[in-house]
Amino acid sequence: MKFYVDQTLGKLIKWLRLLGFDTVQVQLSPKDLAQLPPWKPGVYVLTKQTSWPARRQRPDLLILTSQDPEDQLAEICQRLSLPPDTWQPLQRCSDCNLPLQPLPPDQLEDRVPDYIAVRHQQFFECPQCQRVFWEGSHQRRIRRRLEELSHRQTPR
Ligand SMILES: [Zn+2]
Repeated sequence: MKFYVDQTLGKLIKWLRLLGFDTVQVQLSPKDLAQLPPWKPGVYVLTKQTSWPARRQRPDLLILTSQDPEDQLAEICQRLSLPPDTWQPLQRCSDCNLPLQPLPPDQLEDRVPDYIAVRHQQFFECPQCQRVFWEGSHQRRIRRRLEELSHRQTPR
């Protein structure tokens, strides 16, 4: 699965990458259909622009109605049926969109604060920007919120 996200949804890009989705930022204008990436199964174009003419809408074009990035994530997961077991958190750099590589704790050196190094066992590194990732409170919060939402969708 791959997402093209337009300029109206800037903050959403990082969150999608944090959940492991291949996410590319694009500049889109409803006036120029040629800007849309070619249609392919499993590839979606996300925008908040409501001015897309109906005849230009395609099954892969999702016009989101939510304002908050977390609500937008929840909206995508609902509309595309992406339950938590389809997410792959900590697998992609939220800045570079590249797959992360495991970083053994003994190679951390001084790359994270001590209180983080003692509290976590698993670390990952981006091969491009060399940023170190771990299961932090931001990721936990977003996962918890989306898991709550997915439970609400399927009452037991
Ligand atoms: Zn990176």
